[in-house]
Amino acid sequence: METLEKIKQLCRESWSGETGEQRAVDAEAFILGFLPSYAGLLGISQQQVLDAIEAKRTYSAVNYYQQSNFPSLDGVKIFDTKQAFAEAAPSKQFRCPSCGGVSSDPYECDASKDCDWKSYGLFGTLGKGVRIVVKDTFLEHPRVHEIFMPLEFEQQASGL
Ligand SMILES: [Zn+2]
Repeated sequence: METLEKIKQLCRESWSGETGEQRAVDAEAFILGFLPSYAGLLGISQQQVLDAIEAKRTYSAVNYYQQSNFPSLDGVKIFDTKQAFAEAAPSKQFRCPSCGGVSSDPYECDASKDCDWKSYGLFGTLGKGVRIVVKDTFLEHPRVHEIFMPLEFEQQASGL
């Protein structure tokens, strides 16, 4: 894959000698690790996925190709469109993992002025949120969104 070779070269050039070479090896292993599941999810080729996400890269390849940006898809909820997600969580109410209040924003707690918890912060959603992918916009916005748990999903989880 031409794109992969280009990325490896960028990693190699990011540091001199063996360190640069090791970065290229690590980047390749990481990319080849996540590409199959992402391509399978989206129903397109690994080459198409890599070309698309590389086109969206705005900073160094070494820092971009990391697990925080391209995490495992295990346990991720998949929605075909943003609309499909909105229909699955129509109340637009989300449980803040920190204060336990109900936030109208899935990323930043607005349940309480003192809380201000952010789902994209260092500690994410403390394992109490949900990770979602929106398929039809993924190539434009190649990210797995970690958000506060929609109240509708809490009810599903408790079997109601
Ligand atoms: Zn909160």
